[in-house]
Amino acid sequence: MAVPGKGLIDGLKVTAKTLSRRSVTEQYPDVQPELPPRSRGVIALMEENCTSCMLCARECPSWCIYIDSHTETAPSVGEQARERSRNVLDRFAIDFSLCMYCGICIEACPFDALFWSPEFEYAETDLRNLTHEKDRLRDWMWTVPAPQPIDPGPSVIEPIDPGPGDAARVDEPRSDG
Ligand code: SF4
Ligand code: SF4
Repeated sequence: MAVPGKGLIDGLKVTAKTLSRRSVTEQYPDVQPELPPRSRGVIALMEENCTSCMLCARECPSWCIYIDSHTETAPSVGEQARERSRNVLDRFAIDFSLCMYCGICIEACPFDALFWSPEFEYAETDLRNLTHEKDRLRDWMWTVPAPQPIDPGPSVIEPIDPGPGDAARVDEPRSDG
């Protein structure tokens, strides 16, 4: 049988418990949040490293990377040498209204041209303004944190002792024929 007022008492218990806890509300934008250094805020482009190979655009599951480029031919150096051609990047844009921040483009880039930046203050009131071109993506490179130092690993590699139990198991003949 239901006890009258039990629901009210249970609710007041929850309220009393919550009152004694520290508030987790962030006072943004008056106070900037302390984000982890490797936060996925926005994708930055190191334009100088990009070869317009299109791998990132092909791998992107949301099809939100737009790349245009043209080929330029450099004159040959010396009599026997052939002319050399290279891709010149005309447009590199990411539509952040479609991007799902999976990071596949960054993993796929073989030339270290894409990086995660913790920058997150690029909200817009119109979705169409969330497509950002290469100049803005290049500017975000200044907000990319320096890479973490390489783990030097152990200075001395100790041989692994298999122990008497393991050694005995290795020496035992198999009984299953
Ligand atoms: S993070 Fe994912 S969805 Fe966004 S541009 Fe890169 S591959 Fe596409
Ligand atoms: S960002 Fe990387 S993967 Fe994408 S086109 Fe440039 S070099 Fe290729």
